[in-house]
Amino acid sequence: MSPRRQTVTANVGGVLIGSAHPVVVQSMTNTDTANAEATAIQVAQLARAGSELVRVTVNTREAAAAVPEIVARLAEVGLNVPIVGDFHYNGHILLREFPETARLLAKYRINPGNVGAGQHHDANFATMIEVAKEFGKPVRIGVNWGSLDQQVLARLMDQNAAKGSPKSGTDVMIDAMVVSALESAAYAEKLGLAHDRILISVKVSSAPELWQVYRQLAAQCDYPLHLGLTEAGMGMKGIVASSVALAPLLTEGIGDTIRVSLTPEPGASRKLEVEVAQQILQSLGLRQFLPQVTSCPGCGRTTSVFFQELAQKIQDYIRDTMPEWKARYPGVEEMQVAVMGCIVNGPGESKHANIGISLPGTGEDPRAPVYQDGKLLKTLRGPRIAEEFQELLEAYVERRYGR
Ligand code: SF4
Repeated sequence: MSPRRQTVTANVGGVLIGSAHPVVVQSMTNTDTANAEATAIQVAQLARAGSELVRVTVNTREAAAAVPEIVARLAEVGLNVPIVGDFHYNGHILLREFPETARLLAKYRINPGNVGAGQHHDANFATMIEVAKEFGKPVRIGVNWGSLDQQVLARLMDQNAAKGSPKSGTDVMIDAMVVSALESAAYAEKLGLAHDRILISVKVSSAPELWQVYRQLAAQCDYPLHLGLTEAGMGMKGIVASSVALAPLLTEGIGDTIRVSLTPEPGASRKLEVEVAQQILQSLGLRQFLPQVTSCPGCGRTTSVFFQELAQKIQDYIRDTMPEWKARYPGVEEMQVAVMGCIVNGPGESKHANIGISLPGTGEDPRAPVYQDGKLLKTLRGPRIAEEFQELLEAYVERRYGR
C-alpha cells in the first residue's frame, strides 16, 4: 500500500474528507426527491447501513422544495447524515430560488459538462459558486465521461489535430476530463471559493480508463478526490467491476471518498452499494467497519449445509448486532472470527482469529473445537453447536471489548 496522496481537507457537513482522514463511504438515493417521505426513508436506510454522506438528485423545483422536509424527517429520527445535492442543467436556478435548500445541503455537486453552453456556462457556474460562498458550502466538481464539456473536448481535439493527432480519441477525452475538472476548480477559486471547499471526481465506466484519468488528475492537484466507477452495472458484474476499478487506485493512495454505483435489482435495497464500498475498504485494510469473518469455501469434507448456514448466521448476526456492539464495545470492529468447515485448515485459521470454530467434516468425530486468542477454549458437540458458538462469541466480545 502506498501512503495516501496528500490533499487538503474539505469539511462536508461535519464529515472531514482528505488524506488526513479515513476514506469516506457515500451513496445516492434513487427515489424521486420530490417525494420527501420515500427519500427520507431511503436516506435513513443508507445512513444506517454506514453511508457517511448521502446524495440526492435535485432536478426540479419540487425536488428542491422537498429538501427541508427530508432533513426535518431525518432529524426526527435522530439522523444528521450530511445530504449532498446533485445538480445538472438548472442548479443555478434552483439554488437561488430555494435558499433554505441551499442552506441545508452539505455540498453541491456541479457537473461542468451541463451547467450551460457558451457564455451561459461561466455565468451559471458562477451563480452556483456564489451560493456556495454565501452559505459556506463545499462543491464537488463532478465530471462524467457521458456528459463531458463539449467545448473543452473540441478545444483539445483541435490542439491534438494541430500536433498531427499523436493521441488516440480516448486519450484526448481523458485529457479533456482532467482539464474540465481543473479549469472549473481554478475558476471557482478565482470567484472566491476557498481551495479547501473543492472536491473533484472524473468518472468513467471502464476500469483501465478510470485508473488513467484519476492518476493524471491526482498528479496535478491536491483537492480531495471522490472515486467511483460510473454505470458499473447490476449485481455481481457491478460489484466485481467496481472492486477491480477502485482497488488499484486506493492501493496507490488515490481516493478520499468512494461510491459503488450499482444498478439495484428491481425492489432490492440500495444498502448493497454501501456494504460493497465498506468491504472494498476493509479488504484493503484501509478501514475496519465490521469484525472480519473468515470462512473456508467448503468442499467434499463438509458434511452438510450446516457449515454454510453457520457461516452465514454468524456473519448476519455480527452485521445486525454491530450498531449495538459499536456503542457498547469500542474496538470490536477489529475482531477476527473464523468459521471453518473441518480440521484440515480450521484450527490454523481459528488460532489466527480472535475466536474461531472448526466444524466436524465427513468421517471426523462429531466435535467442533473452538479456539480463543490462539488457544483451545472448548470442544462443542451435539445439536446446539451453532447456538453455543454464538454464546461464546457474545461472551468473548463482552470480556474483550467491554469497558
Ligand atoms: Fe474443505 Fe476443510 Fe478446507 Fe474447508 S477447511 S475447504 S472443509 S478441507
